[in-house]
Amino acid sequence: MERILVSACLMGRAVRFDGRAKPTDHEIFLRWRDEGRLIPFCPEVVGGLPVPRPPAEIEDARGARAVLEGRARIRTPEGRDVTAFFLAGARAALHAALDQGVRLAVLKENSPSCGVHRVFDGSFTGTRTPGPGLTTLLLQDHGIDVFTEDELPQARKRLAELEAAGA
Ligand code: SF4
Repeated sequence: MERILVSACLMGRAVRFDGRAKPTDHEIFLRWRDEGRLIPFCPEVVGGLPVPRPPAEIEDARGARAVLEGRARIRTPEGRDVTAFFLAGARAALHAALDQGVRLAVLKENSPSCGVHRVFDGSFTGTRTPGPGLTTLLLQDHGIDVFTEDELPQARKRLAELEAAGA
C-alpha cells in the first residue's frame, strides 16, 4: 500500500508554534487515515523546537532554496537564528519518507517547513510570498510529490497513478 507523509498538525496533533493543531476532516484525508496510509510528521518538533515556540519565517522573502544553500536564514521576530532546527527537521522528514518508500506527501500550506506554494515573507506582517517551505523543497528535490491540504483531489489522482503503475 502506498503510504503518504502528512503534516502532523493536519492529523490533529497539537504541534504548531501556537500550541494548536490544524486538523482537516476532508473525507479523502479521513479515508486515508482509516486505511492506515498516513505517516504524521512535524519537522519543526522533530528538528528540536518546542511547543509552543515563537513563529519563524525565511528572511527577506529569499526562499527555501537560499536557506538550503546557506544564502538565507530562518529567524524569529526577535532575530534569533533557528535555521539549524528547520534544516534538521527537513532532513529527518526526508529520511523518514525515504525509509518508508513514500512518494507522496500532503503538507500544510504557508509554513516555513511545510508550505507548498506559499510561505510568509520574513516581515512577520502576515504577507506571503511564492515558494515552498524547507521540508517541502527537500522532499521535492528527491522526487516526492507534495500537495497541500487544499489539493486532496489532486493528491488522490496522483495516488491512483502511482498505484496503477505498481511499486
Ligand atoms: Fe504543522 Fe509542519 Fe508546522 Fe509541524 S512544521 S506544525 S507539521 S505545518
